[in-house]
Amino acid sequence: MFPLSRFKSLSLAVVSLVANVAAARTPDALAPRVRLSVFNDAGIPPDTLAQAAARATAILAQSGVELDWLSCGRPDPSDFSPPTTPCSVVAWPHQLSVRIVPCGRSIGADIFGEAFLDGAGRGAYSNVYYNNLAANREHAQLSDGDMLGFVIAHEVGHLLLGSNSHSPSGLMQARWDSSALHSALHNTLFFTPAQSATLRSRLSETPPGPNVPAPLYASAHRLARASP
Ligand SMILES: [Zn+2]
Repeated sequence: MFPLSRFKSLSLAVVSLVANVAAARTPDALAPRVRLSVFNDAGIPPDTLAQAAARATAILAQSGVELDWLSCGRPDPSDFSPPTTPCSVVAWPHQLSVRIVPCGRSIGADIFGEAFLDGAGRGAYSNVYYNNLAANREHAQLSDGDMLGFVIAHEVGHLLLGSNSHSPSGLMQARWDSSALHSALHNTLFFTPAQSATLRSRLSETPPGPNVPAPLYASAHRLARASP
């Protein structure tokens, strides 16, 4: 049994393949789209972030969804003015947010990501705990950037698929076994066809409306490695 956290450094050849696939893909103007504001609180290097963007974009594209990756940089903790940039516009389902933070309060070292859903199973905010991801030496097959892309795509899946969205196969497995590892190494670890259809359906829904507040932090889902 290989938990997701065992994936660490993918070979350069596979990373290159993923990047090339993303670069060669022609955006489909008619495909459902989701914009993801990516906040780099952890200050990870640009090339690592680029690898994550390529991986997450390719995963969503395989589901027929266009991912608009919006790099929002590292926030200035001394700036208390209200944010007015496109990055600050977050509304389910079309405008989601992920913060790549070093670590979290009350977050164990084995927690890599977290998506925040309301009682209706809708959510727009997620966190990735990068230090946990980078420090884990058990996953020797993927680069940090590639691993980050998998985790971000998984959390976006939770935000759009709703509660209880783990599945026994594919990207939304709570734990990655040897079969998932094999799929990741061969660039075939994606959402299932049913999940892909649900993703496209969610993005075809009319947003709740401008006066509906952003989803509350009513519940959280965590993506964690298996216990030893
Ligand atoms: Zn999960």
